[in-house]
Amino acid sequence: MTATKNGTPMIEIRGLHKKFGETEVIKGIDLSVRQGEVVVILGPSGSGKSTVLRCINRLEELTSGTITVDGYDLYDTKTDINYVRSEAGMVFQQFNLFPHLSVLQNVTTGLTKVRKKTKAEAEAIALKLLDKVGLPDKANNFPEQLSGGQKQRVAIARSLAMSPKVILFDEPTSALDPELVGEVLDVMKKLATEGMTMVVVTHEMGFAREVADRVIFIDQGVIQEEGTPDEFFSAPKNPRLRDFLGKVV
Ligand code: ADP
Ligand code: MG
Repeated sequence: MTATKNGTPMIEIRGLHKKFGETEVIKGIDLSVRQGEVVVILGPSGSGKSTVLRCINRLEELTSGTITVDGYDLYDTKTDINYVRSEAGMVFQQFNLFPHLSVLQNVTTGLTKVRKKTKAEAEAIALKLLDKVGLPDKANNFPEQLSGGQKQRVAIARSLAMSPKVILFDEPTSALDPELVGEVLDVMKKLATEGMTMVVVTHEMGFAREVADRVIFIDQGVIQEEGTPDEFFSAPKNPRLRDFLGKVV
């Protein structure tokens, strides 16, 4: 793909608007994410953070605006939805593993069905990825036998299996007991270090400070403030952001 090499952002969102019925939830968002960049999105509950992520991989259809990933217009009628989903992986708060499939099958299913790998190829890739997320011995377990942190690491392995260009994380640690948060954040940090392009909705301020290249504050359907973690946390300008940080930090 030449688009990225030419300096086109990995994700380019222009004029994003999203309505549910008559209610406009996203009221004009522009956001560019460079290859390898980690962008953390903060904002109060109900401010539209999940909606933005869901529009990026078309779990929701935008109302107006454009979104490109790696130069491809996601909303072009010629763009295949499965292609979009495999290029922009998603990791959910509630893991969304397939409960009736083993850990290994959770990771291989996209590889065989979407990437058209043979079962043997898919299993080899899946085992490597389970090793990468620190679960080499859980391949034959079922999701219900895992802790929340382990489930989320399987979900990350499943997402990685598709070789996505970007991974979108929607509050990946919010459903976890506090002592399990670190193991998931550690895997995410490793991905960031390896150059994965990531957009992360989280309330983990330590992660935002340490790992983010850029932090964005969404409120009332628009980006109210954005900056490097340093600028963002030490000198927040927007009063709503100051109020928000006062409550969560
Ligand atoms: P956040 O992730 O920041 O908490 P969301 O993006 O989930 O916020 O939601 C933003 C707003 O859109 C909320 O008011 C929510 O109730 C509304 N909303 C989200 N999804 C739907 C939907 N499928 N139908 C109607 N309203 C929705
Ligand atoms: Mg949300």
